[in-house]
Amino acid sequence: RDQYIESRFARLNPVQRQAVFATEGPLLILAGAGSGKTTVLVNRIANIIRFGSAHGSTELPRPVTEADLNDLRNAVAAGRDLPRETAYLAVRPARPWNVLAITFTNKAAGELKERLRAMLGDTLGGDVNASTFHSACVRMLRRDAERIGFPKSFTIYDSDDQQRVIKQIYKDLMIDDKFLPVKSAIGQISSFKDKLLSAEDVAGEPFANTKAQLVSKIYTAYAGRLKAAGAMDFDDLIFHTVKLLQNDAEAREYYQNRFRYVVVDEYQDTSIAQFHLVRLLAGGTNNVCVVGDDDQSIYKFRGATIENILNFEKVFTGAKTIRLEQNYRSTANILNAANSVIKNNMGRKGKTLWTDHGDGEKVHHYTATNEQDEASHIADVIGEHLREGASLKDHAVLYRMNAQSNPIETYFARAGIPYRIVGGQRFFDRKEVKDINSYLAIIVNPRDDVRLRRIINEPARKIGMTTIEKIGELAASKGVPMMEIIAHVRDYPELQRAAAALERFYEMYRELCDLSVSEPLDQFVGDVIAKSGYEAMLKAMKEEGETRRENLGQLVSSIKTYADQNGEDATLSGFLEEVALISDLDSYDNDADSVTMMTIHSAKGLEFPYVFVVGMEDGIFPGEMAKYNEEDMEEERRLCYVAITRAKKELYLSTSRTRMIFGQTRRNPPSAFLSEIDPGLLDETQSPELTGYGGGFGAGYGSYSTNVPGGRSGYSGASRGYLNSEYNAHPRGGFGGGYSSGFASGGHESPNSYGGRHQVQ
Ligand code: ATP
Ligand code: MG
Repeated sequence: RDQYIESRFARLNPVQRQAVFATEGPLLILAGAGSGKTTVLVNRIANIIRFGSAHGSTELPRPVTEADLNDLRNAVAAGRDLPRETAYLAVRPARPWNVLAITFTNKAAGELKERLRAMLGDTLGGDVNASTFHSACVRMLRRDAERIGFPKSFTIYDSDDQQRVIKQIYKDLMIDDKFLPVKSAIGQISSFKDKLLSAEDVAGEPFANTKAQLVSKIYTAYAGRLKAAGAMDFDDLIFHTVKLLQNDAEAREYYQNRFRYVVVDEYQDTSIAQFHLVRLLAGGTNNVCVVGDDDQSIYKFRGATIENILNFEKVFTGAKTIRLEQNYRSTANILNAANSVIKNNMGRKGKTLWTDHGDGEKVHHYTATNEQDEASHIADVIGEHLREGASLKDHAVLYRMNAQSNPIETYFARAGIPYRIVGGQRFFDRKEVKDINSYLAIIVNPRDDVRLRRIINEPARKIGMTTIEKIGELAASKGVPMMEIIAHVRDYPELQRAAAALERFYEMYRELCDLSVSEPLDQFVGDVIAKSGYEAMLKAMKEEGETRRENLGQLVSSIKTYADQNGEDATLSGFLEEVALISDLDSYDNDADSVTMMTIHSAKGLEFPYVFVVGMEDGIFPGEMAKYNEEDMEEERRLCYVAITRAKKELYLSTSRTRMIFGQTRRNPPSAFLSEIDPGLLDETQSPELTGYGGGFGAGYGSYSTNVPGGRSGYSGASRGYLNSEYNAHPRGGFGGGYSSGFASGGHESPNSYGGRHQVQ
């Protein structure tokens, strides 16, 4: 029988199989990237459900009968060996719902479910509870929230709701945002909850200073309001579940009975609160298996603590540790590059990964002139792979910050390369970008009623829905655009109540129209953002507005690049045309074959045959701030390790000599991580512009000027559509910087704009 079961897991290596069969008691699987941790986790669940746990059990090939039960009773009473088939009953193989599998993102949870279905069939596999920490907690709280004084139908507050509450508290307590930024208060409250400190706990401690005292006051008020509203924020979901399990023995026993097996993937990124949750849930049987890699811990900024992994053996007594050392994902060159980077970190458990895959290609490193050139290089390589028979979905483009996706998106859209962005919105789909583009649209085209409706009361100008509808009706009955009605608002008695507001709007509109002819484009767009009141509105929103203001900064960058590249031919309507083209081009079909684009954070646990990591520059990756702090630097290095180890066949790193950020050109030196990779593993190439023009032009940065004068010729030479078989030679033959469509990008984002944890299903 054992042989039969073993054969089911024949693909696994002996150490992996050992982990699959160690179903009882605490187990830590500590291993590097691509060593099969997630694979083991899935197989282990399959083993638990399919074959039961203890040895000697067997699959019962028929329904249980009364005779089985008699056999069983007799055997137990007589202390005999169990009849072969009834042994099954004694060991009670777990039912699917006895297993709780927790992972980090919704995407990972979905993938886990899929793999379980594939191994166990739809019924068994589908019934396993595979979810994120947050969704697992929501499910428990929906059942038991009343036990801790919340309604079962409690509301979940997102970060926007959270801010509204805090701002109201600021007003009531007359707190000055300058003294204590809202963002900082929210961050501190969040980290209290991560450490399981309630508002009372915090209030009971002596305060280091007045600020700390103030935060405590805010926390108390905040917790009170949420309770009164019957609401929980994301941190509360975990916090309250832990409190429920700690304080309510009945609930605790219920869940401990139900979840006889608890498994956690990506354990290195759990917080203190999450650790306690795991410990409490697994407390009944102690059948807890966690898998992780200390070198892939990348969520410290959200309260993850590597201590959870390091202390596992101490906390769970009798824990077994299994290490996996063979990497099945990548070629030797890629793996060695990853190893040579991560070995520069001090605080690690240390391990060596090996592979019996061949060396493979060297790691490609491309030096681009600017971010458009970088994008065009990626498109070239993908085009080549497609011609060699690879699929689009074999490719992933990874970046440090969401904001970096913009120039690549733009280029892909133009080149007809379908792409999909994971965990981030496409740049031109973002609300604020669409809003400002709508202002530009009505200036170019006063008849654009749709765009007018979109922004006439955005920001709020006291022009209500009823007024807008009335204007629409009047316009329709007269057969004129709505703007025409607004221009003569005094002629219409039915609009009198909103007349003043409409006149002010029209005045602003006229002024912007005038400026659109007199000012340079980028300055003009800046004026639209300011004079429309949009900027003031975002400023009033504080943190949330900050990211959105950064996006508008990028919009200004985009139009500046456009203007630079098109010289005298640049017009506002020309710009809007480009944008429209980009927004229209690809449809959002999740199943369609397409290139995946995402931040490195959201790529954790995934793998692709071809991986591009862009922006390998100091100031981007590692980020500006990390340079001054060794701990942050180590976290960035782990992030780099994660990025490199996503690649199976080939890895492409790229650096750009210049990069446009917020309308300014930056010259970042190449990333420090590049110099940590053994040069023998790297295959260096650079933009033909840098080689072709030798001498002063190509040598070293500093001498190179950004705004490629020949941009336009590159543009016109470009062919659209790798897929339309129009693709031939790369257009960047000339001096022109290639396909310089150029919407520039850049910008730093607040940490909460990374994908992942704050998603609840
Ligand atoms: P990460 O640290 O990135 O999460 P991981 O340790 O979870 O990686 P997996 O994703 O489970 O690794 O496995 C990496 C790849 O290796 C997968 O494609 C998987 O199918 C393959 N693999 C795992 N174990 C084996 C094995 N014994 N034989 C062949 N392939 C394997
Ligand atoms: Mg994994």
